[in-house]
Amino acid sequence: MTHEPHCHDFQKGAADALNNDQLQELLNRTLKNGFQKKRLNGMARLPEYDQLRDQARDLKNHILDHLDAYLERFELEVQKAGGHMHWAEDGDQARAIIGDICKKVGAKTVTKGKSMIAEEIDLNDYLAEQGIEPIETDLGEYIIQLRNELPSHIIAPAFHLSKNQVAETFREHHQHLDADRSLEEPTTLLNEARKELRDRFLKADVGITGANFLVAETGTAMIVTNEGNGDLTQCLPPVHIALTSIDKVVPTLEDATLLLRLLARTATGQEQSVYNTFFTGPKREGDLDGPDEFHIVLLDNGRTELLGSEFRDILRCIRCGACINHCPVYGVTSGHAYGWVYPGPMGSVLTPFFVGIEEAHLLPSASTFCGRCQDVCPVRIPLPDLLRNWRNRAFAVGKPGGAQRLALKVWAMLAQRPGLYHVTARFKIWAMKSLAGKRGHFKWFIGAGGWTKARDLPAPQGGTFQSRYQKGER
Ligand code: SF4
Repeated sequence: MTHEPHCHDFQKGAADALNNDQLQELLNRTLKNGFQKKRLNGMARLPEYDQLRDQARDLKNHILDHLDAYLERFELEVQKAGGHMHWAEDGDQARAIIGDICKKVGAKTVTKGKSMIAEEIDLNDYLAEQGIEPIETDLGEYIIQLRNELPSHIIAPAFHLSKNQVAETFREHHQHLDADRSLEEPTTLLNEARKELRDRFLKADVGITGANFLVAETGTAMIVTNEGNGDLTQCLPPVHIALTSIDKVVPTLEDATLLLRLLARTATGQEQSVYNTFFTGPKREGDLDGPDEFHIVLLDNGRTELLGSEFRDILRCIRCGACINHCPVYGVTSGHAYGWVYPGPMGSVLTPFFVGIEEAHLLPSASTFCGRCQDVCPVRIPLPDLLRNWRNRAFAVGKPGGAQRLALKVWAMLAQRPGLYHVTARFKIWAMKSLAGKRGHFKWFIGAGGWTKARDLPAPQGGTFQSRYQKGER
């Protein structure tokens, strides 16, 4: 089944999530008591953390300024090491390139490491259509593949599921195993997945991974995992394909380590992820393991257009997930409400670009503009500014429409006329106070149905903001 973007469902997805008690508990546990605390602990052990963030921002900006030169150097070094470079302008080209490589070696099964780019281009469905079985090997990805779901988080794709749901999924899909086995303990589930995947690793014809960084000076691609599945995907099958995008290139190995230090700490609070694997070219003479063929498929998919736009800063993203973990909107809606592969603040910047602002116009508004996403971003991406840019673009194409648009137009007209704004605000305060009477609040109020559904709306207290400001009240 194809994971079609369905961003117009954000409001419904958010409402469903808010009514799902289990999901709310998992969100609380995973974000507030998990990722957020771990990040703080990780930062505390690295006094130069903020300095490194400045360096990382400057490094990524430098790379974006010289992207063509670093990509050309990377290609040269990949070829020198015996690898093959393939440039893909869009998802169709990337899928066709991968399909051809698989067909040439008669591939029947493909193991896959976690790759958001593969999600972006819907690779699994394409491979299945070609008669090639894709097998996800990251535990979270494996679980959601069995359930035919989208990831709900870029680094914890199945966190929205309880242990019991995972057990049910395993019982349904591992029917060759004893039906009476106990799946109470998380370690039992883990061991079962490991055993199921072990044989798949050994028999796969092709391994496909993503890449966290591409090192221009050596032609090296590198991946970071905590499970080791990326390494087995990369080195066991005879053919390895690294599917990645042009924004992943860095000039030197030292630059990669700067970003790695920030990535692990910001994402999971670890000093380093458990497995940091660097691979350069195919197996050489005398090597004990490694693929016979090594391919890089480098996807653009509109990123060069992003580079020349007001959204350029998002190309600094190293997919740590911190903006997602700290977003109060994501914190109650979870990832599926966003309707596509990238959720949270970074997703609300990327998704309208990939699927169109008409389709995804609600996402830039799924933000309180509290600024936490920008505060925690290790490469200092000004996410609220980028979301504001998208809101402007949405307005320009007629979104939102109807009463909301009219209200915004009236507000904009008043905001440009402070005198009129003041008079209108005074009238509104007087009218609301009079209507509320002694009760002092409303059970329902026109245009505030969403608010009054869950709580009373208090009538305004005191004067207008302008009058209080003039009196020096702060
Ligand atoms: S935008 Fe920043 S915080 Fe969010 S995933 Fe990317 S690098 Fe991490």
